[in-house]
Amino acid sequence: MIGLNHHPGRVVRRSLDKRIWAWPQYDWKMSPVVETVASKKVLLAAPRGYCAGVDRAVVTVTKALDLYGAPVYVRKQIVHNIHVVQTLEARGAIFVDETDEVPEGATVIFSAHGVSPAVHEQAAARSLKTIDATCPLVTKVHHEVRRFASEDYQILLIGHEGHEEVEGTAGEAPDSVLLIDGLADVEKVVVKDESKLIWLSQTTLSVDETMQTVDALKKRFPLLHAPPSDDICYATQNRQLAVKEIAEKCDLLLVVGSTNSSNSVRLVEVALESGSQASYLIDYASQVKDEWFVGVNTVGVTSGASVPEILVEDLLVELKKRGFGDVEVITKMEEHLLFSLPVELRKDLRAAQV
Ligand code: SF4
Repeated sequence: MIGLNHHPGRVVRRSLDKRIWAWPQYDWKMSPVVETVASKKVLLAAPRGYCAGVDRAVVTVTKALDLYGAPVYVRKQIVHNIHVVQTLEARGAIFVDETDEVPEGATVIFSAHGVSPAVHEQAAARSLKTIDATCPLVTKVHHEVRRFASEDYQILLIGHEGHEEVEGTAGEAPDSVLLIDGLADVEKVVVKDESKLIWLSQTTLSVDETMQTVDALKKRFPLLHAPPSDDICYATQNRQLAVKEIAEKCDLLLVVGSTNSSNSVRLVEVALESGSQASYLIDYASQVKDEWFVGVNTVGVTSGASVPEILVEDLLVELKKRGFGDVEVITKMEEHLLFSLPVELRKDLRAAQV
């Protein structure tokens, strides 16, 4: 799916009563009014932007283009970011919805969100050369689904209906997976055996919202088992924690990311839930609007896990033009994780001695 959306995303504005204005201590009748406005600043959240899985997926496509030459086919958006997709298209990547759009025998890359076994079979049937750029942390959830399905568990998969990652994960054992998309599904879900139930989740959800869903599931199914380790990935969790760290101090918190990027949309929600007066999702700096800055003194900035840093830099330039040149980086934690490239590509790179 190349569902490109050029419009700024979720837009929610809260009351402005927390804005800070220092009013003058003058006798209004005797003295001219002098208004002191608190200095304007930017709080830049860290960590933000590219995670290890996105970095690996984007490098996979660029190295495949270098090695095999254009075109290289990619099933679905390699990562959910319009800028990344357009940049790779300009270099010769062709994004398709399904493998039947790829010429027989050509090379196709699977996106970071993962694919079901059925997609691997379709690709094999067309003799496609496949390079699997599924994030290893998504692959981990696929393994869990296969393992628990083989042990006769029913899996309550918390996630968003229609998201590519959820389709790929559920596709590992479609007869054993029940999707839980929000609290309403907790009440509706019908299970076979309450003693053989486990919950797993999409990797890019809101941590707090997911735990609310898990609590509701546990109330309904007290014997519910928990996953062996977190499914919401380190990058999603860290970016949400970094936003929580600054949100309360922000009159406005801008999240750079695309509207189909689950983890970016969650950052807007977390910003609002954690005290920011307003929060907007934008793909580009050019999408900021004058009215967002009325009475604003502190602007928070972050970006989703699929967003290259150049887009944040562009936003900082735009903010500087608007008087927000004072940037303070607030680092919640450091990240050092790196994933090696897909094995199929590494093999070809070695053979070509690149
Ligand atoms: S957001 Fe998490 S699961 Fe998704 S690609 Fe990045 S590290 Fe992997």
